[in-house]
Amino acid sequence: MSGLFLPYGRQCIEEDDIEAVAAVLRGDWLTTGPAVGAFESDFARAVGARHALACNSGTAALHMATHALGLGPGDCVIVPAITFLATANAAVYVGADVLFADVDPESGTITPETVREAARRAPGPVKAVLPVHLKGPVADPPGIAEAAEGLGAAVIEDACHALGTHYTANGASTTVGACAHSRIATFSLHPVKTIAMGEGGVVTTNDPAIAEAMRRFRSHGMVHDPAAWELSEQGTEAGAPAPWYYEMPEPGFNYRAPDFACALGRSQLAKLDRFVARRAALAARYDSLLAPFAPHVLPPVRPEACTPAWHLYAVRIDFAALRRSRTEVMRTLRASGIGTQVHYVPVPWQPYWRRRQALPDLPGAAHYYARTLSLPLFPGMADSDVDRVVDALAASLGLGI
Ligand SMILES: *Cc1c(COP(=O)(O)O)cnc(C)c1O
Repeated sequence: MSGLFLPYGRQCIEEDDIEAVAAVLRGDWLTTGPAVGAFESDFARAVGARHALACNSGTAALHMATHALGLGPGDCVIVPAITFLATANAAVYVGADVLFADVDPESGTITPETVREAARRAPGPVKAVLPVHLKGPVADPPGIAEAAEGLGAAVIEDACHALGTHYTANGASTTVGACAHSRIATFSLHPVKTIAMGEGGVVTTNDPAIAEAMRRFRSHGMVHDPAAWELSEQGTEAGAPAPWYYEMPEPGFNYRAPDFACALGRSQLAKLDRFVARRAALAARYDSLLAPFAPHVLPPVRPEACTPAWHLYAVRIDFAALRRSRTEVMRTLRASGIGTQVHYVPVPWQPYWRRRQALPDLPGAAHYYARTLSLPLFPGMADSDVDRVVDALAASLGLGI
């Protein structure tokens, strides 16, 4: 990639991915065809979940999850203050109230303590907690699960950053998506994420009833199985279920993923380990090249007992001590062909939320937000790209070696 503009993230599409999509385009199915089920079973196997359902975005995946758990008006949902907008919107779609939990100032993720603190502000029953595995490392799944259980709440993991992350809890190793510490996990296969589908998402669960509820909701709320019809006589002709008949007990959406997108997702999924390994090698190179700049520049926090699939390489920079503005640094890097981004503006700072709730005291989120900067990280980068980014970053911060 040397010499070209380096975005903070991008997809890695290879010839066999293109072939896999072209094969679907030459066939009979563009919407739900055989590639959907094949992708879903490969995905379920890859993460170790009983059920995986493909859908057309990570946002749709989150909505399927909040709906399937029956969340609604009067229920409170705990969401990290540092995440993408869609995590909180998943509660809005079902009419539930959002409680923003503060995050650890260094990792940017919620902790059992910040979950309990948010719950103390709840105007009603807390029914769900949505941890986000920011950048890729997990946010203490057993601790969050225990805190949620203490509140009588279910855990929905927003695992959009963490496809391919493994961790150990109580001596057992598990994979994000296996739902060892949650009811449902949601993934995005947007091109900046670990693998790409164009637009795409996946939900995983081990609960067959939740899987069935999400399957219906994904396709208009339609029920095709005669055994599940409420008004069977209406759907009976000549003593048998009519072949055209279906029922809608409750409206759903159209969140289905097209067959060609699932073919791409499946082809990319087969490369997950390679992509994760390449991201890990690039992250390790960043770690060692940035080490001389501590404590002004610090690498992302690496939690114990976790082998992350790095989605973002977000460093912590003490802009105040260095007397540099983040805008200035980002502009200088851009001028040398390096894209960076800030993940994320605290969600409760958004006008929508400011109109609806008093801004809670979130010192961890404010500290994290003030210092974070995501550097380029994607499997197509060369080692020399990392060197170039580190040199340019150090120069823009006035840090000589
Ligand atoms: C990308 C992302 C989403 C949304 O996924 P889309 O596929 O873009 O809809 C939700 N949550 C987090 C944390 C994300 O990074």
